[in-house]
Amino acid sequence: MKLKDIYNQSKVQVSFEVFPPKDSDCGIKNEKLFEDIQILRRYKPSLISVTYGAGGSNKEKSYNLVEQLSNKNFSVMPHFTCVCASKEQINSYLNELKKLNIENILALRGDEPNDNNICYFDFRYANELVEYLKLETDFSIGVAGYPEGHLSAPNLKTDIKNLKKKISAGADVIFTQMFFDNSKFFAYLDEIEKENIRVPVVAGILPIISYKQLEKMLSLAKVSLPKKLLASLEKYKDNTEDIKKIGIDFATEQCQNLFDNGVSGVHFYTLNKAFSTAKILDNLNYEVYISKQN
Ligand code: FAD
Repeated sequence: MKLKDIYNQSKVQVSFEVFPPKDSDCGIKNEKLFEDIQILRRYKPSLISVTYGAGGSNKEKSYNLVEQLSNKNFSVMPHFTCVCASKEQINSYLNELKKLNIENILALRGDEPNDNNICYFDFRYANELVEYLKLETDFSIGVAGYPEGHLSAPNLKTDIKNLKKKISAGADVIFTQMFFDNSKFFAYLDEIEKENIRVPVVAGILPIISYKQLEKMLSLAKVSLPKKLLASLEKYKDNTEDIKKIGIDFATEQCQNLFDNGVSGVHFYTLNKAFSTAKILDNLNYEVYISKQN
């Protein structure tokens, strides 16, 4: 099903993001990932999205995982970045994806390399990639949105104006960066509406499973933590089990509030682990919820 149809339904859709394990062909990590995906399958995800290294750094591994998931009849949304890629390279990857009957794609610019080697080829910003995809493919297109603004944008308003360019170019759905403060997400929805952006916005939720990993992720993005959450994370930072529990409890409340306020979808950054995401969905009674909607 195409993105615009998936998010046109009345129930809240869930989707899961995974990344290609280092041994994505047939190694142990890959096997473990598929065990975890099997656990998550019971929540009937509308999509599983697969990350792509900026500049195509892990493109074979990413493609392998997309292919394996498609073969298992999942609806897969490959991420795709245009930074440091030429039109020929892009065409060749898109042709491979078309062979898998992929319907949806997440069109991204990707992070610029940090060695000062600016390497734009044919596309400088994601809106240009969206325009190209619209012209050359039948994919339904998702794009990234940043409730607290993109790291390199001068302010949120400018970033939303740039987001609008992606929507005007033909993107169907916005998937957000992780956030922990729902009031920031709701304010973002208001700002988007003021810009006349009328596509579904899917909330990006990270179940926190490790303090160190969270610190690293926050250093790469403009994402704030509510004071109370930060205080409990700091208090228990050396105990992984406590951190996991805090993450599950926090995300459960966060998702419940999003559900109650009519969000179109929740996209879980699973970090390739099913446990916390499954627990959150159990806490939300998601299986019962979807069975009632069908
Ligand atoms: P853009 O929309 O191009 O925006 C980049 C910056 O440029 C912003 O500051 C924006 O305000 C500005 N800008 C945009 N258009 C214009 C314009 N026309 N003129 C001037 N300024 C403009 N990265 C990966 O490498 N692989 C992944 O798989 C991946 N998955 C992601 C999934 C999600 C849901 C999200 C939210 C992010 C993901 N990222 C991924 C990270 C993303 O690639 C980076 O945040 C990247 O720096 C920006 O990508 P973008 O598509 O948002 O870029």
